[in-house]
Amino acid sequence: MDSDAMRVDGNAMAGVLGEVFVQEMTAAQIACEGCGKVEPVGAEHAYVQAPGIVMRCCHCDSALLVVVQTGETYRFGLGRAKWLEFAERA
Ligand SMILES: [Zn+2]
Repeated sequence: MDSDAMRVDGNAMAGVLGEVFVQEMTAAQIACEGCGKVEPVGAEHAYVQAPGIVMRCCHCDSALLVVVQTGETYRFGLGRAKWLEFAERA
């Protein structure tokens, strides 16, 4: 299976990010350190068949975020995400 067939959009990460950050994450903005572009989380590429979930930049393919869940613990790696911005839940 090639990488395009394994990729879904970043909305696939919304559930796990919402559990970690307790905010609505699909509209959160994320900045790529690789190319400098800023996109909503939902627009990035997510690979969910890895041992964790990997979000890659939809422009330059840099690994932005990695989330691994083991039991009730989450390990969250920032990768090449420069920043993540989201609004407080109303
Ligand atoms: Zn990029």
